[in-house]
Amino acid sequence: MHETIIAQQIVRAVRSEVDARGASACRSIDVELGQLEGLDAKDLQAAFDLEAAGTPLDGARLQVTTVPATAVCPSCKAAKPFELPHSHTHEIPRAVCPDCGAALEFRGGRGFVVRRAALVVEDP
Ligand SMILES: [Zn+2]
Repeated sequence: MHETIIAQQIVRAVRSEVDARGASACRSIDVELGQLEGLDAKDLQAAFDLEAAGTPLDGARLQVTTVPATAVCPSCKAAKPFELPHSHTHEIPRAVCPDCGAALEFRGGRGFVVRRAALVVEDP
């Protein structure tokens, strides 16, 4: 249900913009989504569609850009490649350093940001 919470927050953020600008509809919303959130764009769109139904945001398409995370080994003091296990627990994933086996620390790749919303504003 993680995607539902994010979808609700996106709807709330864009609706305040819609109200502020007197827009009648919204066509698309650019969202940056952290890699570690572990969400598929299509799952987020489905959750958004439910939340947006009956609002001016109904029918808007989400353009999701994934913001990558960086994994750093505290022992080697270097960034390391990592693979995320596909899980639906939405906890910070565990990964180990391929060189020394220490647990990697993740930087970035969390949360989401609404970058832009394409609003339809009708001329008065
Ligand atoms: Zn290491």
